[in-house]
Order: sequence, then C-alpha cells, then structure tokens
Amino acid sequence: MTVYEAAAAAFPTLLTSTVTERAGWLRAIADALDAAVDELVPLADEETHLGPTRLRGEVSRTTGQLRLFASAIVEGSYLEATIDHADPTSTPPRPDLRRMLRPLGPVAVYAASNFPFAFSVAGGDTASALAVGCPVIVKAHPGHPRLSRLTASIVSGALESAGAPAGTFALVEGYDEGVALVQHSVIAAAAFTGSVAGGRALFDLAAARPDPIPFFGELGSINPVVVTEDADRENGATLAAGLAASFTLGAGQFCTKPGIVFVPRDSVLERSLEEQLPPARPLLLNDAIASGFERGRERLLDLPGVETLVDGPAVVAATDSLSHDMLTEVFGPLTLLVRYANRVELVETLHQLEGSLTATLHAGDESVDDLLPLLESIAGRVLFAGWPTGVAVAWAQHHGGPWPSTTSQHTSVGVTAVRRFLRPIAYQDAPDRLLPDALKQANPLGIPRRVDGRIA
Ligand code: NAP
Repeated sequence: MTVYEAAAAAFPTLLTSTVTERAGWLRAIADALDAAVDELVPLADEETHLGPTRLRGEVSRTTGQLRLFASAIVEGSYLEATIDHADPTSTPPRPDLRRMLRPLGPVAVYAASNFPFAFSVAGGDTASALAVGCPVIVKAHPGHPRLSRLTASIVSGALESAGAPAGTFALVEGYDEGVALVQHSVIAAAAFTGSVAGGRALFDLAAARPDPIPFFGELGSINPVVVTEDADRENGATLAAGLAASFTLGAGQFCTKPGIVFVPRDSVLERSLEEQLPPARPLLLNDAIASGFERGRERLLDLPGVETLVDGPAVVAATDSLSHDMLTEVFGPLTLLVRYANRVELVETLHQLEGSLTATLHAGDESVDDLLPLLESIAGRVLFAGWPTGVAVAWAQHHGGPWPSTTSQHTSVGVTAVRRFLRPIAYQDAPDRLLPDALKQANPLGIPRRVDGRIA
C-alpha cells in the first residue's frame, strides 16, 4: 500500500475519531519527543548548526504546541458550532440550520529548513492537521534528512502505541516526491513553509490540478520596522542594540527577521548600530542557504542608491531612496536602513511596501495616526516597541500576512492554525439523531456554541 492509499484508508477513521482520542495521539507524540530530546538535539545540531540551547528550546516549543492543540480541540470552540432554530415568522422563513467545521482530508506538509522541530516533521502544520482529524504526509526538508527520519519514526511509533490507525502519518523525501505530493488526488490541502519561489511553484501546481486544493504557504518576509524621530531621539542607542540582536538572531535565518528599518536621517540608531553587531557569524543552515545569502547580499549591495555601512559577519546597508528591487528578502544576517528626511517622506515611502508577516512601530508620544493604518494594511502582526523575531504560540497569535508573505489569510502559528484544514458544513432540518454530537440539541460534548445569534 502506498502512503497515499494508507492516508486515504485512514481518513474515515479519523473523521469519526473523538477529540479525546486525537488529543491522546498528540500528547503521545509530545511525550515521545520529549523523551528522545537527548538523541534529537545532537543530530539536529549536526545537520543545522543551530546550537544545542536553541534546539532544546525548540523541542519544548514543539511539544508545547502539540499539547496546546490537544487542549484546544477538547475545549471545542474550534468547531465554530452554530445553531439557528427554525423561525417560520422571519422573512424569508428560516429552516433549522446548524453549521460546524469538518476535516478536509489528507494534508501535505512541506517542512521548513530553519526550524527543524517547530516547523518541520512534527511541527505546527502536522500538529494542527492531526488535531482536527486529517492524516498527514510530510515532505522532509533536505537540510535535515536524518533528523526528519528519526522524528518521523518517533511520531509513527507514538501514534501507533496511542491507537491511531495506520496511514495517519507518513514521511516522503526528495524534490520529485514533493512535486508529486501536492498533485496527488488523495491530498485535500497543503501547508508549506519556505521561500517565495518554492512556495509559489507548489501553489501553482496546487491550483493547476483538475481539482484545485487550498495551499497554505508561509513564505519569505521583510518585516519592516519604523522608528519615528521622537523614538530615535529618546531611545536610539537602545533601539540599535535591539535591532542588532533581532536581525542577527539565529544568523538572521528567521522569516520574521527585521529586513528593512525606516530611520530618520542622521539617526542615533544608525550611528550606534555598528558597535552592537556580533564579532562572528555562526555557520548558516546549509550550503544552499549560505550561497543564497551571498547572492542576495551581493545583489542588494550592488543596487543603485544602496550604501554599504558594514560588510562583516553581519551586514548593514542603507539608502536614502527605497526602490522595489530592495524589497526582496535576503535570508541571513542582513538589514537595510531606509533613511527619511521628514514624516511626509516616511509616509510616502511606506506606501511602497508589500505584504509582510510583521510590521513594527517604535514611536514616542507623538500621534501615529498616519503610520498605523499603513502598517496594518501590509502585515499580519503589528508590534509596538518590540522586535518581531519571537513568535509566541498562543490562541491570539497570527503568523501570516498579505502576499508575498503568505498565500492565504490564515495563520500557521497558534490555535487558529487548525482553521486551514477544516471546511464548514451547514445541516438543514436534520433530525437530531443524524447530527454530529457537536450540533445535537442537548450539546452532549458541552462545547461553546452560538445559538440563535448568542454565544451559549
Ligand atoms: P525553500 O528552498 O523554498 O525549500 C522549502 C521546501 O520547498 C523544500 O522541501 C524544497 O524541496 C521545496 N521546494 C523549493 N522549491 C521547489 C520547487 N520549485 N518545486 C518543488 N519543491 C520545491 O526554502 P528554504 O530556503 O529552505 O527556507 C528559507 C525560506 O523559508 C526563507 O525565505 C524564510 O523566510 C522562509 N520561512 C518562512 C516561514 C514562515 O512562517 N513564513 C518560516 C520559516 C522560513 P527540495 O529542496 O527538495 O527541492
């Protein structure tokens, strides 16, 4: 049996599985990963150079994420169960309508290179798909193949011992398998974390299928930061230290790295930045990422109007005039300062920005009414007086943004990531005994529901 046939065979069982069963599967995976941390971390470090401290933290983030999804599905609001009782007096008369979300089917997950745990084989995409009852086939990232295989064997073992049906989870490897995966008729949706180019190629394949499927691509991002004149005057040196730490964190290999920073001309921040930069750069993730960084760095520094301020282990460039060519993400330890002469010029320049995962504002007490709507219009997360590189896993998180940072309006981090792998069904005048438990009149699951317009 192929992994596709196995996933298709498992889906009906997952569809009728209870949240308690699936929560048990997720917790079993989390426990098994935690128990194997001493084996996983050295292998991850060998393949990614991210260092044991960061990698141990990432295992905890990953297992915490699995447990959060387990508790979220038991809580039940993710189903968006909604009941409108029949009302023959309304115009037009209303039948009894009951709506909830149901799983889509087997999901393809494309693992990321820069988070070998949290956005990889047992990462957020896998956890959120399994949580809602979708079998998962992961395409391993070629940057950490042995870790991917070890993680997959731990996930499979945990699922089997917790009673999940065979076919609930599988791993495939290689470029060709990745291309075949998104096109396979069994696959009902795909989740991808990686570059704009790779994501776009797979998105196009998903759309070109005879039966197009949703493709949730989390792609590259420049994550603009705006420093107002007041903020620079009051806090420029501290902001320089914060920026240096953020854009070099993990050698700049974060999708949320601040890639463009708007600063006043002659800013304290610009004058203070060089002394805050790290003296050395850790190895980048792999040869492909390292050569991609060199190409991106050279391309940006050669653009007309770009000045090189620092070209060492970390790279800082500056410009007085932003152009579209400067908006391409350079994945690695590089940031571009965009100097503005006054507020009018800042606002005009901000209009050039494209979609980003985050936008950050550092301001004093002055009005920011002209800036905030612009930042909200291009980003999925707007930060105040902070740095975008950390992404907390929480109910209220949103990790995604307008194109080209994401191919959909959904998040890949936080509880609502499950929404990607569900579709609504409305039942009209269904007899109570035929309804799913979530919609039965007596609410046997005890979940939060909206009944006749009110949360009950
Ligand atoms: P990548 O080159 O796009 O690779 C990601 C995956 O896509 C790999 O499995 C790769 O497989 C596959 N792939 C790439 N191009 C393809 C194509 N044309 N056809 C089929 N499959 C293709 O990404 P990366 O360079 O490893 O990762 C760095 C990027 O990820 C950065 O841009 C970063 O910002 C982004 N990222 C985004 C997020 C987010 O949440 N938005 C998080 C982390 C990273 P093969 O190598 O086997 O071809």
